[in-house]
Amino acid sequence: MLEVVNLTKKYGKTLAADGIGFTVPDGKIGILLGPNGAGKSTVIKSIAGLLRYQGSIRIQGLDAGTVEAKKCFAYVPELPYMYEALTVREHIEFIVRAYGREGWEEEARALFDRFELTDKQYKLGNELSKGMMQKVSICCALIIRPKVILLDEPMVGLDPAAIKELKTMLLELRDEGCTVLISTHMLEMVKELWDVTFVMNKGHILGTYVKEALGDEDLEELYFTVTGQAEQSS
Ligand code: ATP
Repeated sequence: MLEVVNLTKKYGKTLAADGIGFTVPDGKIGILLGPNGAGKSTVIKSIAGLLRYQGSIRIQGLDAGTVEAKKCFAYVPELPYMYEALTVREHIEFIVRAYGREGWEEEARALFDRFELTDKQYKLGNELSKGMMQKVSICCALIIRPKVILLDEPMVGLDPAAIKELKTMLLELRDEGCTVLISTHMLEMVKELWDVTFVMNKGHILGTYVKEALGDEDLEELYFTVTGQAEQSS
């Protein structure tokens, strides 16, 4: 479970998040959807503990800043960061040692297999393409078996096979009870995934839509209505 209450973040005079509040329950996929500059990454980075902010964020009922909370959540940043001197496999080893996880080898093998990284596992971080780096970043997040996972524009840079695999994995995580929060400006990428969508613009949540309660209403139309964006500008 992820709870964000009255989250406010200013960069100088820019109010990037203005009193943001939402909850994503266990076993649900939440989407932060909004145009460029809406404040999505600011919210994700605040939850991940990378920014100072005002307000309260709780992960599995724990204050997000505590070590106990950090132990159970994973974050896939918008731009993957690789250690140049570590191989793909060593990235995973580094993470599992930091989190004190045992018996991870079989899971790592399965993740490499699913993301077509098996023959890349002894390559160095700086020998990878951007898409491969993104896949490694996702593997590093999943190997800790998070209870809450945040993904900032996770499909960008992935090939169609990897996008399909990632979507399958996210649905599996949801079915196992994990809380998933995805930030994106591309509604079509998350159409089959979402349980609850928070439409953001200019630092505010303009609408919260629960899939089960939407009935005949079309999320895409609602998005364009509440953001005031013309459909062809998506
Ligand atoms: P995108 O879809 O383009 O990634 P976003 O919804 O993730 O956008 P943010 O990156 O959170 O949006 O940016 C929200 C606002 O905060 C924008 O006005 C942006 O210019 C501003 N902003 C973001 N990061 C900084 C920063 N480090 N310093 C100053 N302003 C920033």
